[in-house]
Amino acid sequence: MSGAELSDGSVIDVDFVIVGIGVTPNDRLAQDCGLNVGNGVLVDEFARTSDPSIFAAGDCAMLPWRGRNIRLESVQNAVDQAESIAATLAAGPDGETAPYDAKPWFWSDQYDVKLQIAGFNLGYDETLVRPGTREGSVSIWYYAEGRLIAVDAINDAKAYVTAKKLLDNGLSADKAIIADPAADLKQLLA
Ligand SMILES: Cc1cc2nc3c(=O)[nH]c(=O)nc-3n(C[C@H](O)[C@H](O)[C@H](O)COP(=O)(O)OP(=O)(O)OC[C@H]3O[C@@H](n4cnc5c(N)ncnc54)[C@H](O)[C@@H]3O)c2cc1C
Repeated sequence: MSGAELSDGSVIDVDFVIVGIGVTPNDRLAQDCGLNVGNGVLVDEFARTSDPSIFAAGDCAMLPWRGRNIRLESVQNAVDQAESIAATLAAGPDGETAPYDAKPWFWSDQYDVKLQIAGFNLGYDETLVRPGTREGSVSIWYYAEGRLIAVDAINDAKAYVTAKKLLDNGLSADKAIIADPAADLKQLLA
């Protein structure tokens, strides 16, 4: 018999446990400084905190994105958001800069598995699983209200690259093509 005891004391039966290390932001320093926090340091579209002379980037920053507030825990976001802040600082108080428009993507190498993620699957209501052309390759396509919002690609660079291009350009993916493993993904970009 195995089980996991939750913080409210309840116990649920489990076969195995995935440990999520580093998923709780430590916003104590920001809180002590009087900045607005809530599951991270709250920032606006220019990564400014509630004190406009203080900026926050990376895992700790809770940023506005497509109508909601999210944290993006990836190396790429930490780098991209920092670059956006640098541009804002370099422009000075009267300079014009573009707001940070996060284009989420993520990768991780786990032994012989290369995981690449394009988009953010929050709020999906449908998934399609598509076998890749190489042995062991597969991709999961996430849709919300019929529109593509994210793709997980496992050892399937073609699916990842296609999905990234589609999402970066605000395009969806025809479900009939995704559901047909024999269909060429190139059609989606034509
Ligand atoms: C186990 C694990 C695996 C991951 N794998 C991947 C992956 O495969 N791909 C990917 O894209 N991302 C991965 N990530 C996420 C990635 O590491 C983070 O998104 C990224 O490091 C965030 O960068 P950051 O600069 O925001 O924060 P961090 O890299 O955490 O840097 C914050 C720094 O601030 C320091 N610090 C904190 N408090 C204070 C303080 N009070 N005073 C001074 N210094 C302080 C910390 O010591 C740390 O050095 C992984 C994370 C974990 C934990």
